[in-house]
Amino acid sequence: MGKIIAIANQKGGVGKTTTAVNVAASMAATKRKVLLIDLDPQGNATMGSGVDKYNVDNTCYELLIEEKPIDEVIIKETSGKYHLIAGNSDITAAEIKLMEVFAREVRLRNALAPVKNYYDYIFIDCPPSLNQLTVNAMAAADSVLVPMQCEYYALEGLTALMDTIKKLASVVNPQLKIEGVLRTMYDPRNRLANDVSEQLKRHFGDQVYRTVIPRNVRLAEAPSFGTPAMYYDKSSTGAKAYLALAGEILRRGKANQVAK
Ligand code: ADP
Ligand code: MG
Repeated sequence: MGKIIAIANQKGGVGKTTTAVNVAASMAATKRKVLLIDLDPQGNATMGSGVDKYNVDNTCYELLIEEKPIDEVIIKETSGKYHLIAGNSDITAAEIKLMEVFAREVRLRNALAPVKNYYDYIFIDCPPSLNQLTVNAMAAADSVLVPMQCEYYALEGLTALMDTIKKLASVVNPQLKIEGVLRTMYDPRNRLANDVSEQLKRHFGDQVYRTVIPRNVRLAEAPSFGTPAMYYDKSSTGAKAYLALAGEILRRGKANQVAK
C-alpha cells in the first residue's frame, strides 16, 4: 500500500524542498513509483523538478478547489523521474478559498484516495507556515518527516512543532505518525551543530534518522538547473546522502511491517 509522507517544518529555509525533491528522485531511482506534491506557493519543488511553474496547466489549485480529477492534474514528465502535482502562486488563492469550501481539511486526502495505492510513496512539500494547506497535508499523510538544522534554539522549535503536529493530528488525523527527524545542512566541524545533534538524539531517540544531510553546494546549485542533485552530480555528498535517506526510509518501512 502507498505511503503518504508530509515534509513539514513551519520554519523556512530548513531544507524541506531540497529534501522533498531529492528524496523523491532517490526513491524513484530505486524503481518505486513516486508522486511529489508541491503545496508551497513559491513553487520551488516544481522548478527543482524541471517543470516551469509559470507555464503549467494545472496545480494543487485545480486539484483542491476546482476538484479536477487527479489524473488530469498529475504531471508525468519530470527531471527526477517521479510524477508531480505542481505548485505556484495560484495556491495562495487556494489557501484563501479553502476557507469557504465544504470539508476543507480533507480536500487533499480525498483527492489522493484514487491514486494512493498506485504509488509506493507520495511526498508532500509543505509551505513554511501552519496554514490550511499544511492542515490538508497533515490530514492526508500517514506520517510527517521533519527536516531541521542543528542550530541554537532548534530543539525548542522542534518540541513546539511536535506539539503542534500532535494537536493538529488529534483533530484531523489521529493515525498520523512521526516518520522521522532529519538533520540537514550539517557541518560536522561546527561544535554547536554537534552539541545540538547529541541533544536531539537524547530527546527524540530513534525518531532521528541515522542519515545526516551535509551542507553541500551541489544541493543548492542543482535547482537552478531544474534537477535533483543525483542527476546534476551523482558523486556529490548531497546526492549520496539523499540516496542513503531513501534506503533508510525503505528499511524502516519494512521493519514496521514486520512489527505489525
Ligand atoms: P525550505 O523548503 O525549508 O524553505 P530549502 O530546501 O528551500 O528550504 O532550502 C533553503 C536554502 O538552502 C536553499 O537555497 C537550498 O538550496 C539550500 N540548501 C538546502 N539544503 C542544503 C544543503 N544540505 N546544503 C547546502 N545548501 C542547502
Ligand atoms: Mg520550501
